[in-house]
Amino acid sequence: MDDGKATGKFKETKIMKRILTGDRPTGKLHLGHYIGSLRNRVRLQEKYECFFIIADLHTLTTKPEKTADLKENIYQMVLDYLSVGIDPQKATIYIQSQIPEVAELAIIFGNLVSTPRLERVPTLKDVMKDAHITIPSYGLLGYPVLQAADILMVRANLVPVGKDQVSHIEVTREIARDFNRLYGERLPVPEVLVPQDLGTLPGTDGSGKMSKSAGNVINLTDSPEEVEKKVMSMYTDPNRIHATDPGKVEGNPVFIYLNAFCTEGDKVQVTSYENQYRQGQVGDIEVKKFLAKILNNFLDPIRKRRAEFEKQPELIEKILKEGTEKARKEAQETLKAVKKAMELDYFSD
Ligand code: ATP
Ligand code: MG
Repeated sequence: MDDGKATGKFKETKIMKRILTGDRPTGKLHLGHYIGSLRNRVRLQEKYECFFIIADLHTLTTKPEKTADLKENIYQMVLDYLSVGIDPQKATIYIQSQIPEVAELAIIFGNLVSTPRLERVPTLKDVMKDAHITIPSYGLLGYPVLQAADILMVRANLVPVGKDQVSHIEVTREIARDFNRLYGERLPVPEVLVPQDLGTLPGTDGSGKMSKSAGNVINLTDSPEEVEKKVMSMYTDPNRIHATDPGKVEGNPVFIYLNAFCTEGDKVQVTSYENQYRQGQVGDIEVKKFLAKILNNFLDPIRKRRAEFEKQPELIEKILKEGTEKARKEAQETLKAVKKAMELDYFSD
């Protein structure tokens, strides 16, 4: 392998910090994903060496019976990624289940964390509630261990997560520290990167969060007509009955969306609608029509890019294959170092 001494270029990429983040392929990505993670990834890929994991094994922890959908979900998810501007030349997109080393690492790491510790991970209860699970499986309890294997496998330095995921990453940090204490410094202890400006996008029903299972989403793949239909039935200010009633802008999802997706050029109009709305000088229908236009303007280039990639299924497969191969090389390197450190390297190469 090129050690980079001659080119200098390799050296440069070597000192780039590494990022691992990704998604479970459970369905279509929506505007909430865009605000909460995708747009940040598009920025991060410029500055860091990014690994984007499609965590299909993680879907088994809550839906072990739902494997038939994974193939199509993965394909659609890659289209979602590419259509928002994730660039496979800059970032590595890979499929978790195609890297057997990750399972081996998870087995090793499972011995470095206690079951009460895993039971205390705050998201476990939420996940169980959402998935109507009363007793967690071994796999679900071990979710943060598998995640530790994902992160440490590529030796990521930074893990961008939503606030809800910080507690998982803490388990990864504990495992890495414990490993290093027992077997010698081998694994970088990753830092959490909680982006300041991302926030949570509420659902079209005005609930706390846009999410698939709540059925309150606008998907990146929705047609202009679907977007318009969903926007026209959006929740606004429940206390406002007539267009002449003063309305509430703060916390009103219509205005939250307007501010999140309008272009610089549309800002003046958004502010003007906010003022009119507060004073009861504009109806919901007019503002919603404007929002549908703003969202469709935002989604149009995404739709166009997606249509281009949809014509090239072989390219999608190539991106996934090459990405997985690249990530697997990292995994093999890590596992080798891990086993050597543990003196589990019984045979000479
Ligand atoms: P489900 O309903 O199955 O839980 P979901 O639509 O909530 O699905 P997740 O897969 O739970 O999507 O989301 C993965 C990540 O995407 C979250 O950890 C968060 O970072 C981001 N995300 C999802 N929904 C939103 C949202 N409404 N606002 C901001 N970020 C979001
Ligand atoms: Mg969710």
